[in-house]
Amino acid sequence: MKMFQTLARTMEPSAVLNIACACGRRVAWTRPEAFSRCGPDTTPPDLRRRLRCGACGRTGQARVWL
Ligand SMILES: [Zn+2]
Repeated sequence: MKMFQTLARTMEPSAVLNIACACGRRVAWTRPEAFSRCGPDTTPPDLRRRLRCGACGRTGQARVWL
């Protein structure tokens, strides 16, 4: 189960982190992008809580997957 691993441990070097909001906005971050925005020690549940949607401004609505 990878769910509570950090990004650094979960993401392969070429992995892409997909994030989708309930409003339909979707972004994909490469490993370096995810690290620089959130830090390599962030866990996916942390991300889900902290991310704020650039389109609708909601937090805690994102789905995050690799
Ligand atoms: Zn949104």
